[in-house]
Amino acid sequence: MNSTSKKHIALISVHGDPAMEIGKEEAGGQNVYVRQVGEALAAQGWYVDMFTRKTSAGQPKIVEHSTRCRTVRLTAGSEEFIPRQEIFEYCNEFLAQLLKFQAYSGGQYSLVHTNYWLSAWVGMAWQKRQSIKQVHTYHSLGAVKYKSVPTIPMIAGTRLGVEKAVLERADRIVATSPQEKEHMRSLVSSKGKIDIIPCGTDIRRFSSINRYEARQQLGFNPEDKVILYVGRFDERKGIETLVRAVSCSQLRGKTNLKLIIAGGSRTGKSDGIERNRIKRLVAELGIIEITSFPGCLIGNILPAHYAAADVCVVPSYYEPFGLVAIEAMASGTPVVASKVGGLQYTVVPEETGLLVPPKNELALTAAIDNILSNPDLRNKLGFRARGWVENKFSWQRVAHRLNNLYTDLLREPVKTLEQVSA
Ligand code: UDP
Repeated sequence: MNSTSKKHIALISVHGDPAMEIGKEEAGGQNVYVRQVGEALAAQGWYVDMFTRKTSAGQPKIVEHSTRCRTVRLTAGSEEFIPRQEIFEYCNEFLAQLLKFQAYSGGQYSLVHTNYWLSAWVGMAWQKRQSIKQVHTYHSLGAVKYKSVPTIPMIAGTRLGVEKAVLERADRIVATSPQEKEHMRSLVSSKGKIDIIPCGTDIRRFSSINRYEARQQLGFNPEDKVILYVGRFDERKGIETLVRAVSCSQLRGKTNLKLIIAGGSRTGKSDGIERNRIKRLVAELGIIEITSFPGCLIGNILPAHYAAADVCVVPSYYEPFGLVAIEAMASGTPVVASKVGGLQYTVVPEETGLLVPPKNELALTAAIDNILSNPDLRNKLGFRARGWVENKFSWQRVAHRLNNLYTDLLREPVKTLEQVSA
């Protein structure tokens, strides 16, 4: 298929609005992924509509990202923020609005790429009404996540059922790492077709500033030892382990130590509980003077933080992929990460960073200390990290692989509605 025969495709991300600024509500990796993939596919010739749920009355219904790529916000439930574990009951309405939009706009989508289990359900229900190919990316697997959290939500049974059904029925599943594929096979189902295509990153944005300039811009001294965390305030991100690790005497005794815990929603509605818990813990552990919470980092400030840091720590208890790790590495900063999920794929131990067992503050302390105490090691890991991400994780490369997958799938015969419903 050449670029003139590219088709209309739909990306669905019910709870992660690709046009939403990071820092609003639960916005995180999924929002970034859908938007970057959508825009990069449009640049390769596809017509891309990205469907999401409208979360406030004042939001525009349609946001144009380029001539071939737009976000379409559908009304499902009241037009306000609803936490993701409460959205399932509105998915039927979401699909009805999507079909209405399709009929109204007169187009016909040949393929839908769904993101997260809520959208998987919408995609499967859509396939029962219309011949359309479905590709799915999980972003998070309930079967793995529920092992790492203390409380299992009421919706768990429904989620696990949808996640199994989509694996077995979708035309293709995109796993973002070999570890995620392995989890699908061992914990969800042996049926279904899975391709491994990683997430990507903006390799230009995350090399736009060097370490020296970044430190000047942020007011850090050359001798500061900067430990950086970037991400949402969510228990499974393991920020607690990081602050406990930094409070150990081995690190705390260092002069010029700085711990930056960046991220979190600006409205504070969705993640305030975890943020307040972490702030209390920082005070109890006596590391308040060396710790800062700059809030959500956007625009050029985010690359400046990555570039200025000595080490970026991703202490997650569960991480399907972890964009933050590849962003830091693209910025030439080594990563110390938990040995879980996709982090085992993106962070190459002793080459681009170090991996430690999750929830193990002593191991984390030792790994961070190793990098802070050895500038040569830090520089060597950082240099290799940049090259690794450039070669493997640019959005262009990711979109190219998705482009090939869609093109191949669209050549295959379409399942009949009877086959889909069977
Ligand atoms: N992010 C950001 N500013 C912040 C915190 C996070 O732009 O202050 C972005 C970060 O750069 C990354 C995404 O949010 O692209 C988080 O993705 P990740 O896969 O690491 O975690 P998730 O949110 O999906 O659990």
